Amino acid sequence: MTIRLDRERLITTMKEQAEYGATEGGGLHRLALSEADREIRDWFVDQLKTAGLSVRIDEFGNIFGRREGIDSDAAPLLVGSHLDSQPNGGIYDGALGVVAALELVRTLNDEEIETARPVEIVNWTNEEGSRFQPAMQGSGVWAGAHDLEQEYAKTDDDGVMLGEALDDIGYRGDVPAEPTTDYEAYLELHVEQGPVLAEAGADIGIVTGIVGFTWGSVTFRGEADHSGPTPMHHRRDALVAAADLITAVRRIPGMLGERTVGTVGYVDAEPNSINIIPEKATVTWGFRDPDDAIVEEAYRRVLAEAEHAAKREGVDFDTEERMRAPAVTFPDQAVDSVRKAAETRDCEYLEMVSGAGHDATHLASVCNTGMVFAPSEGGKSHSPDEYTSWDDCYEAATVLANAALELAADGGTVK
Ligand SMILES: [Zn+2]
Repeated sequence: MTIRLDRERLITTMKEQAEYGATEGGGLHRLALSEADREIRDWFVDQLKTAGLSVRIDEFGNIFGRREGIDSDAAPLLVGSHLDSQPNGGIYDGALGVVAALELVRTLNDEEIETARPVEIVNWTNEEGSRFQPAMQGSGVWAGAHDLEQEYAKTDDDGVMLGEALDDIGYRGDVPAEPTTDYEAYLELHVEQGPVLAEAGADIGIVTGIVGFTWGSVTFRGEADHSGPTPMHHRRDALVAAADLITAVRRIPGMLGERTVGTVGYVDAEPNSINIIPEKATVTWGFRDPDDAIVEEAYRRVLAEAEHAAKREGVDFDTEERMRAPAVTFPDQAVDSVRKAAETRDCEYLEMVSGAGHDATHLASVCNTGMVFAPSEGGKSHSPDEYTSWDDCYEAATVLANAALELAADGGTVK
């Protein structure tokens, strides 16, 4: 069996959600647990109720809507993403995944399709990690990667604690923020946020996993001096060593994997004054790759490069790895269902490893997980220029829905 979503309704719903937190330039400003987030959550709960789903909200504000299966004790299929956005972000991002999940259950209702398994759809709290850190927080708490109380205590720039913010918008629910049953699988549709699919002319991406990464920092310590009287050979300039390291981080990926990326996203120099030789400089590194061994190699090389840079300039240095996440490989079952749905649709697809983290990262530790990517025009995202054509939105949502139908066992019996 295949299902056909209502294209116009999908588009209308996408436009409707984009009104909550809309910015003048056509973007979206819907920070986690803000007033705009409260409004979109109210809207979402309304949609769930209208679709006849039973709604539950957990202690961390994750919102679930459940459609019963023939076998209500069977492990449910979970489908969703997130409705929060970056500051002045785009209207597609995670919202497309939540709207597609909504459209899935609406269509099951319209077609009076009974699935063997219950189907649950979800909006995860704070995927973006801009107002409160870390990103993918709601799914991380739910999956057991973070401690609930610790995350409640996280504060935003104004010192507001996350727990208070949840209370302020009325979304601290009473259901435990954890899987209260076994789940059969989790599916998520998200925009790619990179240029790969659009450049390849593919209709959708089948995500087979998520890259691993290492993040850390190097601090060089030299000597502050007057920039006039100090001859060049007398200098121990921390910022020069840092500059060497920045170009090394740029070079390292080229020596490793085809998909390795490396970034220095942060620089701090002291005293940061035009007339003083920098005494202290800190730079960060970030390397990502689908292969953990390559991530480890990038880490080894950045430490070696830091040592060379320090030696050349005669400065001291120390390093700190701040975070390391292993690559995630989605198990076959959910990925196979997505592939089958794509083949049935006869659409052009590309199998790929996601270069960005998603809620699916955490879900992969709970159950079978699969993701569908919709192309991002120009690879742009987290900006009002983010764009995915309605055709591409519809295609990706349709593949998601058909993969979901298979995983939820539309034949009426649980395999
Ligand atoms: Zn997102």
